[in-house]
Amino acid sequence: MVLRSFRLGEADRVLHVYTADRGRVGAVAKGVRRTKSRFGARLEPLSHVELMLHQGSGELQTVTGADLRASHHEAREDPYRLAVGLIGAEAMLKLFTEQEANERAFTALTRFLDRLDVIPPAGSRPAVDPLVLSFQLKLLWLSGYMPHLDSCVECGAADGLVGYLPSAGGAVCRDCGNGAITLSPDGLHGIRTLVATPLADAHDAQLSDRGARDALALVTASYEHHGGFRLRTLTA
Ligand SMILES: [Zn+2]
Repeated sequence: MVLRSFRLGEADRVLHVYTADRGRVGAVAKGVRRTKSRFGARLEPLSHVELMLHQGSGELQTVTGADLRASHHEAREDPYRLAVGLIGAEAMLKLFTEQEANERAFTALTRFLDRLDVIPPAGSRPAVDPLVLSFQLKLLWLSGYMPHLDSCVECGAADGLVGYLPSAGGAVCRDCGNGAITLSPDGLHGIRTLVATPLADAHDAQLSDRGARDALALVTASYEHHGGFRLRTLTA
């Protein structure tokens, strides 16, 4: 899956791809900007390709062949879907940096991009799209960063959870809520639903506006606290 690509010199392109068998790989495709490139448009971000790679002496592998599996042009050609897709791609880039296979992460990415082709194209704010919120929560879970939301992480109370405390890695009750990010009942319910729902059903999860905003706040706080990063696509 091509997550990102950028120009290198006059004719080449650097690709950051997430592969099924080797995890994150960096590669260079030579001559892609020439009009008669043998790669054509197959190396666009969000496309699913089968790549032939040559491992040279450098850090980047060289693309020697590319077969399109799914172009995802429906996702790329609509501005809203593209924005949603690029948030998911950046989350993947930031959370899964190892050159090591992670079958579940690869499968989640595949399902995210398949679904992206068919979500309603006219959403208002890509950052709170249920599909990309659900995808990021699943990536947090696969990374071991998913906050504990079943009970207060400080005292164990199961009821009256009102906030999320990133430093403690989970939800807190009113008594323990000092310094916590507010988590509304809608937010708590929405986050639990998005975690438990398959990506294909995220848009049917009946997420309220408040629930979506709280889910986004929890995702960004988890990134900052555990990974020390922010997503450029979320702050733009
Ligand atoms: Zn408590």
